[in-house]
Amino acid sequence: MKHTIDHLLRHSGLPRLEARMLLQAVSGYDHAALLMHGNECLSENQAAQWQQLLARRLAGEPMAYILGKREFYGRLFATTPATLIPRPETEHLVEAVLARIPPGGKVWDLGTGGGAVAVTLACERPDAAVFASDISKDALAVAGRNAATLGANVRFACGSWYQAFAPEQTGLLDIIVSNPPYIEADDPHLAQGDLRFEPAGALTDFADGLSAIRVLAAGARERLQANGWLLMEHGWNQGEAVRKILQDNGFAEVATEQDLAGLDRLSMGRWPGG
Ligand code: GLN
Repeated sequence: MKHTIDHLLRHSGLPRLEARMLLQAVSGYDHAALLMHGNECLSENQAAQWQQLLARRLAGEPMAYILGKREFYGRLFATTPATLIPRPETEHLVEAVLARIPPGGKVWDLGTGGGAVAVTLACERPDAAVFASDISKDALAVAGRNAATLGANVRFACGSWYQAFAPEQTGLLDIIVSNPPYIEADDPHLAQGDLRFEPAGALTDFADGLSAIRVLAAGARERLQANGWLLMEHGWNQGEAVRKILQDNGFAEVATEQDLAGLDRLSMGRWPGG
């Protein structure tokens, strides 16, 4: 039997917001139009599509993968299972970088995934030279697509951490930034919610959660200008450990900042040079 859009909105078994987003995707209506056409029924095609999307969501698949997009820092990013889903907490990392890029500065985003950080930086600061790398070719394909769609000028390379670009390709950088895999291997969150569907290698280092951060801190010393900054996102309980790693590697002005939930979310240090 045929149901109205309004009925589907209320009786899908999903939170209303999610039902609405899926119905918008299949109907092509925006929010206002969907509500105005609440008494209509979906076409047969649309109804079949709705059933498919609904089943996927009820099976736990993340909204961002079902819709193929997620907003980050006011822009829409294509999002596929090849990359981590952009998270609002990471906007804080972007802001901390934006506050530190000198005019015409050079930035490298390591482990860029779908490119949310690098592409946002390039869009916000067209004067900057933005490099971005990832070990996953599939992730880089998504990042490249996002850069093209959003008109961002980003230089991409594939490789593990600092191997992706040779020193002569980037020159000395003003900013090194990363949202690396930092979840501990045995963290139960990896088996819950959206994380079950995300690439494990983007979430966890399969060790103590700090191994990528150690590599990033050690390698940054040779790639940063004197007085350049290294900024890294990390878990709520890793602030102290990450500050110690930065200090042990000779960084100055080491500090941690909290996200909107008041949790430690990123740490940074300034490379004094030498
Ligand atoms: N912040 C993400 C989470 O806890 C993890 C992202 C990451 O590992 N870089 O869900």
